[in-house]
Amino acid sequence: MANSNFRLYVDFDGTVTDIDVGNGIFARFIRKELLEKGWHEEIINEWKAERLSSLQCLTMDCANSVATEDEMKEELKNYPLTEGFVETAQFCQTNEIPLMILSDGLDYYIDHILKMHGLENIDFKANHLIFGESTLGVEFPHSEYGCGKCGNCKRWHMRTHSKQGECVIYVGDGYSDRYAIKSADVVFARRDLEAYCKRENIDYHPFETFHEVLSYLKSGHEDI
Ligand SMILES: [Mg+2]
Repeated sequence: MANSNFRLYVDFDGTVTDIDVGNGIFARFIRKELLEKGWHEEIINEWKAERLSSLQCLTMDCANSVATEDEMKEELKNYPLTEGFVETAQFCQTNEIPLMILSDGLDYYIDHILKMHGLENIDFKANHLIFGESTLGVEFPHSEYGCGKCGNCKRWHMRTHSKQGECVIYVGDGYSDRYAIKSADVVFARRDLEAYCKRENIDYHPFETFHEVLSYLKSGHEDI
């Protein structure tokens, strides 16, 4: 029997999807001459070193990427969901566990990929992709609520939606999740987020697929 006090927040890139879609689309659509110079990797390294905000990175990446909507849709066929996510989403819906995707990536690909899998009922918050005349563009509808380090402040959404007495679970894989987990009672981490949790002595559950998360939800156990 599921615990009705659970609330689940999940990152998208590299969490809901097995591969990071944001990195993938920029690796595909950033101007060739910049890609060959390793420009995108430099930007990512600057972001990880906290010398650039994700807002700055995304703005630069989009401004230097060229793609039509049809090309983007074709590219988005290459990103399978992480195993067990569909079942987890169904379990949440059946058991009225609130599930929200929080992403510092782009709304277009989240919406498109969710629809590809019949998951369009899942609520998500992300930055807004624009198909411009010559390049991609991005808007940050939620940026004003954060400290400026992220385009989309996940902690703000968590504070806004979570209710007192709930057991807040966060599932993520990367650096964009390092602030969000401070607002969670239970953390599931893999890849860069797992390394971060280890380094900072933050309690977490390791995961490879969503089956681990689903088992936890089914157990109804709260370890807070
Ligand atoms: Mg991620």
